[in-house]
Amino acid sequence: MTQVVVTAGGLVPAGIGWIEVIVGCMFSGKTEELIRRVRRAQYARQAVVVFKPGIDKRYSEDSLGSHSGLRLRSFQVETAAEIPALVGDAQVVGIDEGQFLGGDLVAVCERLANEGRRVIVAGLDQDYLGRPFEPMPQLLAVAEYITKNLAICMVCGNPADRSQRVVNRDARFLVGEADAYEARCRRCWDPDNFEPRQEQLGLGRNLSEDE
Ligand SMILES: [Zn+2]
Repeated sequence: MTQVVVTAGGLVPAGIGWIEVIVGCMFSGKTEELIRRVRRAQYARQAVVVFKPGIDKRYSEDSLGSHSGLRLRSFQVETAAEIPALVGDAQVVGIDEGQFLGGDLVAVCERLANEGRRVIVAGLDQDYLGRPFEPMPQLLAVAEYITKNLAICMVCGNPADRSQRVVNRDARFLVGEADAYEARCRRCWDPDNFEPRQEQLGLGRNLSEDE
């Protein structure tokens, strides 16, 4: 029988699996959030396994890395279909850059959740033209929990949910080229204008690091 734990925040499933999806634009902290959740599970001595697409060669080949420098060891796969054979007895399955793993991702996540696992998927919900980035929209539809992270518009400072491309190239996504994007709000986002508004991608000053 399924136990449901009632907390102040709502119902928390117990004894069943489920799907969590973390979406947002570039620089919204999706990978950081995925790493944070997986680490919390590890602190609770839960077995975890983490995947990222083989095309994502950023940072190192076998670990998940965020722009902020957080890292987590991971398997690289070309498609979602490779995942079930690699999950072993993991209670928590983390998947980054879900938009690159193909349409099978939805069925694979459903299967893993139906087996009783907690499945956490991070990915872009829109491409640089603002189009829904499959299969993330389909995954959002079947997920129990959805988190949409916002970035901060690099032009005006408002909440941002668009990835602005600042180099004129056709590929749907430029892998490993964070410099080719800025986070923009709806007003400042203009997919036909590739003019960067930040001179270079970097971090704001941290006053506590000043000498
Ligand atoms: Zn803006």
